Order: sequence, then C-alpha cells, then structure tokens
Amino acid sequence: MGQQTGDLAEIDELAFRDPASALPRLADTISTASDMPPARRAALHAIAADAARQLGFSRQSITHADAGLALLPAGDMSDIAVRMRTVRALVSTNVGGIDAATVELTRVIDSVRDRPLALGCVLRDRGWLNFRDGNPDQALDDLLRAYALLRRHASREEAMVAAGRLSMAQFSVRDYPQALALVDETIAFFRAEKAQIRLATALDRRSAILKAAGRLDEALIAATEALRIHDDIGDRVGTGLSQMRMCGVQIDRNALAQAATWCDRAELTLSQTSGMDDNDYRTLAALRGRLFLALGRSKDAVAQFDRAIAPGGAQPADDIAELYELRSRAHAAVGNYPAAFTDQGEYLRRMREQGTLDRIREVAQLRVQFENDQEKQKIALLEKDKKLAEERLNSQTRTTQLVAIAGLTGLVTAFFLGYALLSHRRHRAELIRLAERDELTGLLNRRAIVRKAVELLTRAREAKGSLIIGLIDLDHFKTINDRFGHAVGDQLLQRFAAAMRTTLHTREIFGRYGGEEFLVLFPDCTMDQARASAERLRNSLREQQLRIDDQSVTVTLSLGLAGYEGGDVLFDQIARRADIALYVAKTQGRDRVEIFNPARHATVSIVTSARQR
Ligand code: GH3
Ligand code: MG
Ligand code: MG
Repeated sequence: MGQQTGDLAEIDELAFRDPASALPRLADTISTASDMPPARRAALHAIAADAARQLGFSRQSITHADAGLALLPAGDMSDIAVRMRTVRALVSTNVGGIDAATVELTRVIDSVRDRPLALGCVLRDRGWLNFRDGNPDQALDDLLRAYALLRRHASREEAMVAAGRLSMAQFSVRDYPQALALVDETIAFFRAEKAQIRLATALDRRSAILKAAGRLDEALIAATEALRIHDDIGDRVGTGLSQMRMCGVQIDRNALAQAATWCDRAELTLSQTSGMDDNDYRTLAALRGRLFLALGRSKDAVAQFDRAIAPGGAQPADDIAELYELRSRAHAAVGNYPAAFTDQGEYLRRMREQGTLDRIREVAQLRVQFENDQEKQKIALLEKDKKLAEERLNSQTRTTQLVAIAGLTGLVTAFFLGYALLSHRRHRAELIRLAERDELTGLLNRRAIVRKAVELLTRAREAKGSLIIGLIDLDHFKTINDRFGHAVGDQLLQRFAAAMRTTLHTREIFGRYGGEEFLVLFPDCTMDQARASAERLRNSLREQQLRIDDQSVTVTLSLGLAGYEGGDVLFDQIARRADIALYVAKTQGRDRVEIFNPARHATVSIVTSARQR
C-alpha cells in the first residue's frame, strides 16, 4: 500500500508539472491493470481528470471524473471523490453554466467543512470560478481562506496554485503589492521545481502587475525572461503573447519604436501558430491603438480601437472598459467631443458594473470629475478650445487625483508600510489573517474600518441615506502609560474594545483608527440615536475600574460626532468635521461627547490643522 501511495504521489506530481506527459501514462495504467482495487483506479481517474482539465480537454476530463466517481460509493465525499466532483463542476461550466458549478462546489464545501485540506482545495476552485465570473469580492474571500488553509495543510504545489490565483484576484482589485508578493512566491517555487510553463506564466503575471503599478523597467525584465522561456520550450503561442506584453510595456515606457517592432513580431509569431484567434487580433489592435495615440496619430488610433472593441470575442471586461476610455481620448484629440463623451460614459458604466469595492470607490470619484467635465465640455465646444479638452481627458490628472484620494484616506500608506514590514513569506499567512484585524484589540484595523466607511458613504450618497461617524480619543492616555506602564495601557485598550463590543448596537461598526483612537460608524440613524449610543459607550468606560497595585484606574474618553452632508465625496470630509468636534470635546474638559456644529466650530478648523493630527 505504501508503495502504491508512493506511485500515486509520483504520478500526481508529474501531472502537476507536466500534465501533457502524465495524461497518456495515466490512461495507459488505468486500461492495462484490470485487477486494480477500485479506490486506486478512482484515484488515477481523479489525477487524469485534473490533468485533462489543465490541458483544456474538457470532455476527457469529465469522462475521467465520471468513471472515477462510478467506482466509489454513491454520495462519497472522500478526498478523491471531492477532487473529481470539483473538477467536474469546473469543467462543466461551459455546459451547465457558472451558477450550477458554484452551487455544486458550495455543496461539496459544506460536506468537507472540518477537513482543511479538502476544504482549501475546493475553496480555491470556487474562488477561481467567482473570479472568472467577475465577482472579485467573493473570489478574494474564498482564495484568501484557501491560501491560508493550503499553506498550513497541503503540499507546496497546492499552496502555490492558490497563491497564483489569489494574486490574480488581488491584481484585479488593484492590490498590487500583495499581488506581486504572492506571484513572486510562486515564481521562486516554480523556478526551483523547474516547472517551466508555470514559471513563464507566473513571470508574465509579474510583468503585468509591475506594468500596472508603473514599475516599467522591472516589468520589462520579467516579460523578457518569460519570453525567453516560452521561446526555449517552443511554446509559440506563449511567445507571441509575451511579445505583445513587451509591446505594451514599451508603450508605457514611451519607447514607441521598440513597441512597434514587438507588435509586428507578435503578429508574425501568432500568425504562424494555428491558435491565433479573433481575441489576439483584438489585442493587437488595442496595442496599435495605444501606439498611434501615443504617436499623436489619433484618427488611426480610433480605427484600431474600433477594431479592438467590436462586439464578440472574450476579452477581459476590465480591458474593454479601458479601451473605451482610450478611444474617448482619441476622439477628443480629433475634436469629436460627442463621441468622446459617449465613450467616457461607457467606460464609467462598465467600471461600475464590474463593481468591486475599490472600483466603486474610484468610479465615484471619476463620476464627479466626469460631471465637471461635462460642464467644461460645453464651454470647450463653445470656445472650440481643444486644449482644454485634451487637458481634461489627460490621464495624468486622473491618476494624480486618485493617488491624492488614496493618500487622503491613508489607505495606501498604512497598508503599504505594514505590508513591507510583514511581507516575509513565513508571515504572509498570518498577515492575511490579520489584514483586516488589529492585533491588540481584535477590532477592525484602520484600513478595514476606513474601507467600510467609504463603502457606507458611497451607499449613503447613492441611496440618499445617512451616515454618522464618531471619532474617539481616550483621555490623558500618555499619563496612564507613564504612571502604570505600557502593558497596562495595552490592557486598557483591550478592555475598551470589549466595552465597544458589548455596548454598541450590532448595526454600528467600529474599529481601531490608530493608537488610542477609535472610529464608530452609525449607518442610517439619527444624530440623537448616535449621540445616545456614544453616551452609553462613554459611561460604560468610565464605570469600569481597573485595579492595579491597589490603585484603581479610571479611563475616560472624548468623542466627536459628525454626519454625512450632501456633497461629501470623501470620507475625509466627514472625518475632518468629527475631528474638529473631538477637538472641541477635549478643550471643553474631556470625558464628553460633542457634535460638530458648523456655526460654532467653523473657526476651530484652523487650530486643529495646526495640531497635525
Ligand atoms: P488627550 O486627552 O489630549 O488625548 O491626551 P493623551 O495623553 O491621550 O494624548 P494623545 O491622544 O495625543 O496621546 C496618545 C497616547 O496614547 C500616545 C501613546 O503613548 C499612547 N498610545 C498610543 N497607542 C498605544 C498603544 O497601542 N498602547 C499603549 N499602551 N499606549 C498607546
Ligand atoms: Mg490620541
Ligand atoms: Mg488621547
């Protein structure tokens, strides 16, 4: 049995590394050994089903899965059965649709809840399915859990597959540092394992992430290596795709002559394969469109984008949205403003439809700019001022604005810094668990609570609802640390977190905003209700006494409340008013709740900005 298990592991590993060689060997073994025990035969079918899936042989994959499942008891949920059910569900998405597959996978997940390895594998697949289905939030949820489970309970191979997929999902929500770290982890592994095809694919991804993050020279290096490997192993399609990537990076680097050369080479390489499809032509057209746009040949650019956008085909939705944006720029450059704005609108609509949190947020910002743009357009048309239009559509402006927004909410810096410190591979699984949680108190951390706030703000704005936020700062905390030591301070923070959990309503969302500062979000309630909650919290803290060396320590808090006002776009606009109210609470003696009052507090803002909170 040990021998047999060893065999299985070996062929399984071969199937992972080189499914094309493994598949015929598997079929051979299955058909020749007729006296093989059913469980073993089923296991071979499972491996074959998976290998066939990897190679894109759907029918063969289903045949193997069905044959394997038929050898096992009905309703069996052993690891082997789970694997075949999963593969079957994934492969049959073409037939039964994605929903049917998700339902099937969810059923399997329910039956393997307490088996971490199986659970990790199936979550990984459901996550992938969700990702392909354009549902990145659900995908991230599943893939994060899968990655954490598989890192702990599975072989490196299994964990790396999860890492690769998670990296794609992170990439799609523009979490570039995380995506990059994960893909690099897979690169190191595939390199060591000499899994060339996977290595090249991972390098392609690395290049895509770096390109999106604007790290163009590194993107070029990764694409070059991917290209070399595809070329070495004679993978012509891979080579062509890498050449297209080289072209894309060179366009971004503004090395337009080189970009043009890569574009031509890619077309040549791909046209020599049997696999060149309509999608590749579109991708090439999109690249040429960008190239022409950069060269100032806007009319030619429009023609190429027309081709790239033409209905049909299966390009990633994300890319298509962006193409509309690019064509809008090209239209604007030749003075065709109505077409430019139709495209800009289409771009926004598509971005919104894709609906990840990050995108919704960006789109909200873009929409404001877009509305301004429409105003400006009227003027521009009147004045026939082309320059203004170009400036308006200049991506630079938009990028700068987005960066400024991210900077304001502190999301980017807080997260990147934290990430840099923790990105060591050994800590990453931990990091993922902690990504949303503050370590000391277990509350939502700053990133998570701000993200929640932005989400609720967007909702309040779109549904004309309300949102009140409360900013809390514990009083004289420095003194407490000085008198009793930092450890006692920490303990008090934990106590306060517990008080928040028991005192606040379930619909109220709270987290640690930093140090001894906390944020509470009161969605859809009146200021009176929010104030009542805040007062309850204040009293509950004051009534708790901590005994330390015969002394009893009492802590109090100050709290500033402010509500969403029509016209608020940024979370920081509300946070700023709450901060002013908090400042007033402090100056009026602490241990109190203060509501922002524009009439009385207007002058305070100058003072607080000097505080450099
Ligand atoms: P104020 O009433 O004006 O808020 O006085 P304060 O002393 O609380 O002043 P401030 O809010 O500016 O200072 C916050 C202090 O909280 C500084 C720091 O020593 C302490 N602190 C921040 N984070 C932690 C933590 O995680 N643990 C402990 N023990 N102390 C912390
Ligand atoms: Mg403070
Ligand atoms: Mg304080």
